[in-house]
Amino acid sequence: MKKVVKFGGSSLASAKQFKKVSDIILADKARRYVVPSAPGKRNKNDDKVTDLLYACYDAAASGASYGKILSRIKERYEQIIDGLELNLNLDFEFQTIEKNFLAKTGRDYAASRGEYLNGLIMSQYLGFEFIDAADVIFFDEEGNFLSEKTNCELAERLSHTERAVIPGFYGSKPDGSIHTFSRGGSDITGSIVARAIHADLYENWTDVSGFLVTDPRLVENPVPIETITYKELRELAYMGASVLHEDAIFPVRREGIPINIRNTNKPDDPGTLIVETTCRKPKYTITGIAGKKGFCSITIEKAMMNSEIGFGRKVLDVFERSGISFEHMPSGIDTMTIFVHQTEFEEYEQSVIAGIHRAVQPDSVELESDLALIAVVGRGMKSARGTAGRIFSALAHARVNVKMIDQGSSELNIIIGVKNADFEVAVKAIYDIFITAEM
Ligand code: ASP
Repeated sequence: MKKVVKFGGSSLASAKQFKKVSDIILADKARRYVVPSAPGKRNKNDDKVTDLLYACYDAAASGASYGKILSRIKERYEQIIDGLELNLNLDFEFQTIEKNFLAKTGRDYAASRGEYLNGLIMSQYLGFEFIDAADVIFFDEEGNFLSEKTNCELAERLSHTERAVIPGFYGSKPDGSIHTFSRGGSDITGSIVARAIHADLYENWTDVSGFLVTDPRLVENPVPIETITYKELRELAYMGASVLHEDAIFPVRREGIPINIRNTNKPDDPGTLIVETTCRKPKYTITGIAGKKGFCSITIEKAMMNSEIGFGRKVLDVFERSGISFEHMPSGIDTMTIFVHQTEFEEYEQSVIAGIHRAVQPDSVELESDLALIAVVGRGMKSARGTAGRIFSALAHARVNVKMIDQGSSELNIIIGVKNADFEVAVKAIYDIFITAEM
């Protein structure tokens, strides 16, 4: 059995957290490849080392004073090293970092040092080999991730390595310069390593016990999701649910490797298992509810629209030319409604309306703003009767007016449009009817 374990910033923010992490790793022999993030926040008002590194670099590269921030960064690592009673001195590393900052080596280089230094500490603490991600994770000149080259070289390198620490978040370009993934990108590194070694499991350790059925800011203490498929996760993530970097799915998904989201502070919690497919019956009819505010709808009306071939294409072409992507498009016989992000649309509002008039000569164009979309997602809906009925009766009881309904043919999700002001009440009503009532 081989597992890749990735630890997020809050799991590695202090010596105390490092100890928890080492206990977790050493408790299971299969946990052979470790991907650390940079030290994150120790409390709500604390800073992430990555943010300090960006700030320090910007100051150094622009000729401003940077000494104070650099000392704070050094201090964070020294506290961890002292707390772990390690015989490790990072003076030389920090001299190199400072020199490179002044030589303007780049923001990506700067940010990557957070993971790099944490990797050095972790490898010494665990007695695992240290592999610099710059030697095994590759990008092209433009910064596109080279998945196949990386996979080949990483697989070859790790086939000779029993146990290793590989820092997350960065790799190198052909000229040797450092390049990072987008923020939160250590999740991606973990997934890449899992693919390369054909891991049985990719464990992603963070500070929550997996995904919750809905946002805890909307519903008090929502229940956790035990098992979720990649497809369900994608639907929920698109609507704003976030725990994992979206791009972390691809490398493991193509190999059918499951991801287990776990909580470093509650290592006995099973967390959420993300799988390609499963015959495990979901506990509740729905897997999750996510949503976002800030949409608007454009409703176009024209008599005999139904018989005008190419009408939809001409309308969508107007949006395309303004670079606006549409979210949903419910239609009637003589009407069609397009849902878009309000902020994206506002800038082009009048030119889009004029464009629609020119393209299809509608009888009327109406706008409605301040709408929210809610996605109710679940593989269990396919075999359950009355799911839509339950949603709408719950919303009716909560006095929420439904503006739009969209159910995909996959029966994996139902999207509901409501007024922004009804958003919280609507999510709570849907949660109660499916989760509280089914408990
Ligand atoms: N340290 C990086 C960030 O803060 C990457 C990561 O933690 O995954 O975004």
